[in-house]
Amino acid sequence: MRVGIGYDIHRMIEGRKLFLGGIEIPYIKGFLAHSDGDILLHALCDAILGAAALGDIGTHFPDTDIRYSNISSAQLLKEVLVVVRNKGFRVHNVDTVIIMQEPKLVPFKDKIRNNVATLLGIDVSFVSVKAKTQEGLGPIGNNEAAACYATVSLDTGG
Ligand code: MG
Repeated sequence: MRVGIGYDIHRMIEGRKLFLGGIEIPYIKGFLAHSDGDILLHALCDAILGAAALGDIGTHFPDTDIRYSNISSAQLLKEVLVVVRNKGFRVHNVDTVIIMQEPKLVPFKDKIRNNVATLLGIDVSFVSVKAKTQEGLGPIGNNEAAACYATVSLDTGG
């Protein structure tokens, strides 16, 4: 059994679509990023790579490489899963914490959770998605950015 942690933060600006866990959330702001900026999937990718001690998404998908410009984070996750599967690992379970002032994520959490489970190819009972606000404090509290933590355990499928 291996355990990994991942973290991501992106600035939020008007005029961008908002994606979390591969689900589009209707809102006036989205993430300023080279990709779709999906903080949940980015944190998850880093947690998976971290559990396998295989670097991070920056080393696998450098933002200087135009092949990754505007790539969907779901595609990044698929490629990360190939990397760890080739080392004999599979994702056992994941837990995530989204820290976002707005919008309220309660109506979307189950949809996000189900989609993450589908992307990972595991049962939804092995996927946890939690969300909290920053209590109005700092740039996340001011709705200028949002962040996400993820932990993952991998096993060898045996
Ligand atoms: Mg990111």
